[in-house]
Amino acid sequence: MTYRQLWVIVPMVLLLYLSGCSVLQGDGDDFFYDPSQSIPTVDGFDFPVGDRDGQGWGITGYGFLDWSSSSNSWHPGEDWNIPGAGNGDQGEPVYAIAHGKVIFSGWNSALGNVILLQHKTLDGNFIWSQYAHLDRLDVSKGELVQRRQQIGTVGRGPNNRYSAHLHFEIRKHNLAANAWPRTNGVPWDKGKVLKYWLNPSEFIKQNRPQ
Ligand SMILES: [Zn+2]
Repeated sequence: MTYRQLWVIVPMVLLLYLSGCSVLQGDGDDFFYDPSQSIPTVDGFDFPVGDRDGQGWGITGYGFLDWSSSSNSWHPGEDWNIPGAGNGDQGEPVYAIAHGKVIFSGWNSALGNVILLQHKTLDGNFIWSQYAHLDRLDVSKGELVQRRQQIGTVGRGPNNRYSAHLHFEIRKHNLAANAWPRTNGVPWDKGKVLKYWLNPSEFIKQNRPQ
């Protein structure tokens, strides 16, 4: 094959490939942004702070489904700290618990800086992990992240409202980054919370990398 023939054939093949793909997807412009297509499948889950096993850190604040009188609700996640560190854990790295895609990375008036990741599990389902009160955001919406990649740092929430800790959730549904189990000030009951949220530590322990 001559170079001249290549100059004709290569663009044609590319054109066919691209048009074929958009026909298959049927989404037109959405093709390159279709989350179900671009999210890599996980290869297991690690803890979001400390080492892969969460060593050196503990849930010293509210645990999963503890009653939180300050927010009048069942706490839908876990508050991770270095025990005894006070605000000394501010600025510590926060890691993606698994391969995934950044769905939200930004500010919220109630939670401060928040990151929401979407993960495709081995059985083809999706779950979401949410990291709140962050000091720094190291990733942007649409980015793909790897398990154990640093995505931000531990912070104190809006106007340093809290002592430094990571508020961490795992969700079964694609909720807004600032979703909270309460409607018009009325807390959801535990049964309803469990339809949308998972026990983070329990889930991670059951799904460690092989
Ligand atoms: Zn919390």
